[in-house]
Amino acid sequence: MNTIYLDNNATTAVAPAVLEEMLPYLKDLYGNPSSMHTFGGQLGSTIREARAKVAALLGAEPEEIIFTSCGTESDNTAIMSALEIYPHKRHVITTRVEHPAVYSFCKHLARKGYRVTYIPVDSKGRLNMDAFYKALDDDTAIVSVMYANNETGVIFPVEEIGTVLRERDILFHTDAVQAVGKIPLDTRTLPIDMLSLSGHKLHAPKGIGVLYVRKGTRFYPYIIGGHQEHGRRAGTENIASIIALGKACELAAENLETEGTYLSRLRDKLEAALLRRSPDARINGDTEHRLPNTTNISFEYVEGEAILLRLDEYGICASSGSACTSGSLEPSHVLRAMGVPFTAMHGSIRFSLSRYNTEEEIDKVIETLPPIIKELRMLSPYGRCT
Ligand code: PLP
Repeated sequence: MNTIYLDNNATTAVAPAVLEEMLPYLKDLYGNPSSMHTFGGQLGSTIREARAKVAALLGAEPEEIIFTSCGTESDNTAIMSALEIYPHKRHVITTRVEHPAVYSFCKHLARKGYRVTYIPVDSKGRLNMDAFYKALDDDTAIVSVMYANNETGVIFPVEEIGTVLRERDILFHTDAVQAVGKIPLDTRTLPIDMLSLSGHKLHAPKGIGVLYVRKGTRFYPYIIGGHQEHGRRAGTENIASIIALGKACELAAENLETEGTYLSRLRDKLEAALLRRSPDARINGDTEHRLPNTTNISFEYVEGEAILLRLDEYGICASSGSACTSGSLEPSHVLRAMGVPFTAMHGSIRFSLSRYNTEEEIDKVIETLPPIIKELRMLSPYGRCT
């Protein structure tokens, strides 16, 4: 049975060209770039090239790119840096729908005595901008708002937020882990100070991330030790993955527009057919401002986990919330923040596509899922059999 992988917001396949480019650095070119000898030292220029490729995708300067171990580390680092730089400021603003990399970190900060404001969203997952404006005060060290939500794909008004924060001289970080490589994003025009991305969401391997820090932004490192990354992130460089990320960014930049059009066409086809064929199904999230690859659909009166298990029998991989919350039956904090009704929240499924998905795969899901929903509704504990 072939796998139909529609869980690309959880992680993506490593692109063949990316794998090819990184392999020599796991085999023969295993040196340490900090070494005095040529064998290790030669790797410095390889890292430089990869850094330039990542920078190019973001419209950034290479020196604005700090390699980290993952998106989570980048997020934690950005927020901690602001708190170290402004020790007298004790207020952090974020949203109720962040990924745990920011959300749980902010809960941790609250336990440490920081004041955290979580901006609410409306039923379509759109940020309440009035609440954002009201939350700002002179004690605010940093605002961290995701670029696009991992569960619904909803894109936030990062430009508007950044413009206000510049006027108020407040640091702005955006978790762009789900946006980079999926939609165009240019740090030359975006009023942000820091941005996180993660390699495994754009066809590079797991365990490599980036924190973009705009030139001139005061920065304090989170991982302290050696002089790597110009003293901004210690630890011997993960060369193979850095090379991989450089290649993945190059591929993403080459194909951004065509891939976006391709993905939104497949996604829209899937979405429309599922809504047509399954009564009591609804889309979660603002469909006008959304990533091209993501749809989050609630099938009311059915358990999402049951749907996933049945899809799995056909080799179809999807998700019933972020990968970090699935595995528990706790409903997603994102859907809860959106006020999605109980019966719909429990039956929510996220499909997230990548360049490797085909029309045939989408057709297969369209053919397979509606009968599963019908069957599960017959068994539904909610007593609705539609
Ligand atoms: N931020 C968002 C929006 C994510 O979707 C994820 C991963 O799912 C992360 C951060 C964490 O990235 P990583 O898995 O590289 O730590």
